[in-house]
Amino acid sequence: MRNPGEKFSAWTGGGHRGVERRTFAEFVELCQRLEATESRSAKARMVAAFMSSLGPEEARAFAYMLVGRKSGERGKPINVGWSTVQRALSIAEGSVPLDLWGRRLGLLEVWRALEELSALEGPGSQEKRVRALASLFVRCTPEERGWLVRVLTGEMRHGVNHGVFLEAVAAMLRRDLDEIRYADMVYSDIGKLAELAVRNELAAQQVEPMRPVRPMLAEMCGSPSEALSEHGGTSCFEPKYDGIRLQVHVSGGEVRLFTRRLRDVTQNLPDVVEAVRREIRCRSAVLDSEAIAVGHDGRPMPFQETVRRVGRERELEEALRELPLALRVFDVLHLDGKATVLMPYLDRRRLLEEFVPPEMLAPVSRLSDPKEVEELMRRNVETGNEGLVAKDPRSPYIPGRRGKHWLKLKASETMDVVIVAAEWGHGRRSGWLSNYHLAVYDDASGRFVMVGKTFKGLTDAEFEEMTRKLLSIAVERQPWGVVVRPEVVVEVAFNEVQRSPRYEGGLALRFARIVRIRDDKAPTEVNTLEDLRRVFLRQMERRGASERFSL
Ligand code: AMP
Repeated sequence: MRNPGEKFSAWTGGGHRGVERRTFAEFVELCQRLEATESRSAKARMVAAFMSSLGPEEARAFAYMLVGRKSGERGKPINVGWSTVQRALSIAEGSVPLDLWGRRLGLLEVWRALEELSALEGPGSQEKRVRALASLFVRCTPEERGWLVRVLTGEMRHGVNHGVFLEAVAAMLRRDLDEIRYADMVYSDIGKLAELAVRNELAAQQVEPMRPVRPMLAEMCGSPSEALSEHGGTSCFEPKYDGIRLQVHVSGGEVRLFTRRLRDVTQNLPDVVEAVRREIRCRSAVLDSEAIAVGHDGRPMPFQETVRRVGRERELEEALRELPLALRVFDVLHLDGKATVLMPYLDRRRLLEEFVPPEMLAPVSRLSDPKEVEELMRRNVETGNEGLVAKDPRSPYIPGRRGKHWLKLKASETMDVVIVAAEWGHGRRSGWLSNYHLAVYDDASGRFVMVGKTFKGLTDAEFEEMTRKLLSIAVERQPWGVVVRPEVVVEVAFNEVQRSPRYEGGLALRFARIVRIRDDKAPTEVNTLEDLRRVFLRQMERRGASERFSL
């Protein structure tokens, strides 16, 4: 028999980086012991003992492999399908385990190999992946091979899930489990967590007065029902103020104010400092809030005004009189010696109500009906707010994180666009042309240019009718759908205009959804690329203003 190592030498010859302390065989032996152990705490202790013998990079690989995650660092899945695994196994079958250069597979080496083979791309990559995987299998004993398959399929079946792994980290570091759970949320990457733990660099997530932390951020959301379902049916809605973010630190009699980028703006805002001293009753606290400029009529002033006010250091007295700033507090991160970040949003909110006067608090509405959310949104936009922020009632406060715990719902603008092509739908929408390519008119070239797609907004009956209509004006049929004469005008709502290298005009509508079919409009009446540019520039201007003042 030909030496199987020869066949795969292209891969096995490649060296690996990082310090290797444990072999893959030792990892497998641990997995077998875990499988034979009932007690959860005993499992955690075994994992802790093993982990404490690893180098930082090994610990990262260990965490990914042990918890049976198919993905490495976020967004980089181990790209190996079942058929690849089967083909690689059949190649490796029958070969004797190969003790290459007298050295057994290292734990880190296996993980690196999996990362490398899943990064393969382009023509022939499937074949290369099979060969690379086979060359790993060849070097395994039958038990190791079995466990490698479990790693690849993500079904470890040894009872160490994410939670047990966190217990192991806590046991290894002799730290409180809650602290480790919280760090896990902050890093949201179990490999990173294990690496930091082994380095003994897992920072205690202590939020303390006078030490600003990066604020928690919100993700964009398309509709009230999306926000509600994301938060399990009920969500807490606050106004989305068009102001600036202020983190308020109180300690004894001292007050400090920090912006979103942690710039200390205490000096610029003596009126806010004074109001905090006067109105907020606590010994020490860290609060999250939005500061808005309020006009004489009590309505919020436009964002630009607020920024101008905060940036201005001269003639402060006059500005103070002109534009009083009001604080809208919406969160508490620390109170009287204790971090509160781990408490669920609703409990933090109740706490806030005990020591912050109601007029200084952002009002909150707990809702489960999308219609009521729409109504609240309408009222907020009318009074000068940007929209709403939906907050998951159960969520902790995670500094620096943009995620789905907080979702921003902005009032949408609409544009008239023309449909230039449509794709066949899938699932419930199969048989219908349901994903529409939307275009605006470009004055410069005298053509329609595509600025987005949408499959949202039509009823079933409308989809059916639209399919008939589009087929009747089709000029080109493709397997994916049809290209049509630009005749059907629709009004779409969208949340934002964004840069897009994919489209000819360089701009795209974000979260477009059809709000009306505009039979009353001719394609010559649709919006132009210039209109899109204007909306885009307006957005940029607002962001630019905050950049200038490094907020
Ligand atoms: P954006 O700047 O569009 O990413 O939206 C996030 C910003 O909305 C935050 O950084 C806050 O400054 C602001 N914001 C306004 N009202 C609230 C609120 N009630 N809760 C959280 N953030 C808010």
